[in-house]
Amino acid sequence: MMNLKEMDQTYVLPTYARNYVHFVRGENSMLYDAEGKDYVDFGSGIAVCSVGHGNPRLAKAICDQAQKLIHTSNLYLIEPQARLAKRLAELSGYDVQTFFANSGAEANEGAIKIARRYGEVEGEVKRYKIITLEHSFHGRTITALKATGQEAMHTYFGPFPDGFVYARNIEHIYDLIDDHTVAVMIELVQGEGGVQPMEKAEVQKLAETLKKRDILLVVDEVQTGIYRTGEVLASNLYGITPDIVTLAKGLGGGVPIGAIMTTHKGILKAGDHGSTFGGNFLSTRAALEVLEILEGHKNSGELDHMLILFEERLKRVAAKHPELFDKEVGVGFMRGLRVKEGKDAGDIIKAAFDARVVVLKAGKNTVRFLPVLTITKEEMELGFERFESALAKL
Ligand SMILES: *Cc1c(COP(=O)(O)O)cnc(C)c1O
Repeated sequence: MMNLKEMDQTYVLPTYARNYVHFVRGENSMLYDAEGKDYVDFGSGIAVCSVGHGNPRLAKAICDQAQKLIHTSNLYLIEPQARLAKRLAELSGYDVQTFFANSGAEANEGAIKIARRYGEVEGEVKRYKIITLEHSFHGRTITALKATGQEAMHTYFGPFPDGFVYARNIEHIYDLIDDHTVAVMIELVQGEGGVQPMEKAEVQKLAETLKKRDILLVVDEVQTGIYRTGEVLASNLYGITPDIVTLAKGLGGGVPIGAIMTTHKGILKAGDHGSTFGGNFLSTRAALEVLEILEGHKNSGELDHMLILFEERLKRVAAKHPELFDKEVGVGFMRGLRVKEGKDAGDIIKAAFDARVVVLKAGKNTVRFLPVLTITKEEMELGFERFESALAKL
């Protein structure tokens, strides 16, 4: 008989460098494998499980909805979709309409379509160029891959669509603007690129300049959105109003959903864009529950309290191990430890896993921490205890 690992390796296309741990259930920040061993999860499924594993409120919302309707298609009214769009506008404070997709890459694809559409004005020169940043990550579809400012990711799979240029940093964006530029797309805190927050003053100046020049600002909040940085959106934290914001990871608490919010209401008309699954009953009902849980968590002060404790705790680790880490980086619950040259983040992540705490890699050499947003003090302490015991063995 084939075991599960053999089955996976035989039948699943090997696009992931998998760790073959077999998780079977979870409870908030804790994961349990098939042997009953517990792990503290400081990765939350790459910033997805925002309200923790096995959240009873989310489970009940999904279950109740599944028993009524999961899907009818976008040909008909979808109550939780309308309510979710309204909540996203209210919570973010932006005067927006939202389109629902199923993933981050797909949300970014839609954002790029909106930007391109904005650049198509009858009687004027078509504007289509989009400036993105080096070390960015915007997803795995052909267009999102091309929008991603990492040359190594453009080695295969071409030809790619034209019209993407990459700026070294925010200052360099201004040099790349020409008559064909329609948008700038950035992450406010680069996630996959290595947990790299942008400078607030630089971002605010960029937003102002682009507005004056009628160039759209698209903020990819697939990772930073939905309270990951402590605010509903990182754009709120940075004090800007983008033309387009994309969301995905944390929005559904694990149920696949993506979203494109735009202040340019009515820019796409019936038939311009669409999705079979996007915004169906199940995913939007799940996202509504996630928002309600996290809004309560934020309003109670618990989210901000834990953010501060987590940052302090991480700074202590960095200070205690100058032989391993250069510094602590990040914002809110999107944090990292920059690993010293000559040391390998992979070794640290492996040692941490052996000590039963899950941490992730980002960029070339950053150990990344993306805890569930509802993490408790006890879970945090246990996780850091295990992480430090792993470091002591290196
Ligand atoms: C994860 C991520 C994406 C891609 O999201 P998928 O759901 O995997 O398509 C896009 N942009 C950013 C900033 C991300 O972190």
